[in-house]
Amino acid sequence: MTQSQPNTFARVGMSHVTRRLGQPYETRMAKLDGVHINTSSQPNANPHFGTLTTLMCVAAVAEEMSDHFGKPVQITFDQLENAPDRKVQGLKTRIVKGQEIEYQISLQDSILSSGTSLVQENMKTFKSLFDFFEQETGVPFRVRSYHECQADPLFRTSLLKVLNDIEHFGPIVSPSGEAIRLRFPCPTCKWVDKGSVYTRVIEQAEDEILFEAFCPDHGEHQARLAVDSDDFFDTNTPLRDIAKVPGLIEAARQDKLMPMMIDGRDWSGRWDRCVHVPGVSRLGYDASELPARVYSPVVTDTLGAKLSKSLYVGSMYSEMPRGFADFNDFMEVYGESGLQTLWEHVREWSRDPAYMDRDSYTITYFMLLLGGKLGPANIMG
Ligand SMILES: [Zn+2]
Repeated sequence: MTQSQPNTFARVGMSHVTRRLGQPYETRMAKLDGVHINTSSQPNANPHFGTLTTLMCVAAVAEEMSDHFGKPVQITFDQLENAPDRKVQGLKTRIVKGQEIEYQISLQDSILSSGTSLVQENMKTFKSLFDFFEQETGVPFRVRSYHECQADPLFRTSLLKVLNDIEHFGPIVSPSGEAIRLRFPCPTCKWVDKGSVYTRVIEQAEDEILFEAFCPDHGEHQARLAVDSDDFFDTNTPLRDIAKVPGLIEAARQDKLMPMMIDGRDWSGRWDRCVHVPGVSRLGYDASELPARVYSPVVTDTLGAKLSKSLYVGSMYSEMPRGFADFNDFMEVYGESGLQTLWEHVREWSRDPAYMDRDSYTITYFMLLLGGKLGPANIMG
């Protein structure tokens, strides 16, 4: 019989002062009727192992909140189909007015030879996972497209506030001083000026901003940012992270729910304190109204680097043990029983903050777990 690997680790951070994830929110939840969880992902490939465990954390935390508070829980998954297609069509470089300009196309606008868009193709696996979680927990994942998110009047109002108050928002949204990127595709070919090099403001007022961009094939095109405009706007991560929060707060307020965001641990710490909190505060919200946040532990390679979709898309993971770079491979290697083992394990993470507050788990940890060689957790402190 093979000996199992001892699995000893210490409590860190919040897990020293809590034994259930819901404990910090008990006062807030006393006046509310439920929890509305929001999470997001760029479906630019099948989920890799890190995305898989994050999605499992979302489902498991939803179940834990429902058990802890005895109140209903909803989940909204923000599908970021505005993310660029780096895999199939990639970037194209064109010389415009003597300058090399990079153009990208979104997952939504990248159409495969089968006629379906890349986002539809990649979301198939995500949706099969959502069905699995719903069967396990009874809580469905509602998918909200980025298109729907950016059309929300509160999202548009937030963008207008940011762009009309660059003095304060600039250092928050773009601390390195780069231009704030609000992109929109050419209406004919759907390609986008990646760096917004030839995107400019034509007219600017408190309630509307008119932009103009340039397509090397179809010339100038305009888009109007306003609450009553249907023009589509792509936003980069810091802008989106701030602009979507008023919608989450107001929707939750209307239904007497506590908004809660669940994302990977790399969005905690400096990001939260330098971008998210100051940005949302500047939009006029008090700290007590901010969404509660739970961060899922990061999955790292053997050297401690986070598994990354961009690296995966660039096929950097050929050296990685099979099953960790692509969910379909995972199912081929570990099957339904492997999925169930992993899910039951992540479910336990939601029952004690000691697991959830751990920064990371390595792929070695999961190989031991899935191979039945990981000893029972011995949590110190
Ligand atoms: Zn064009």
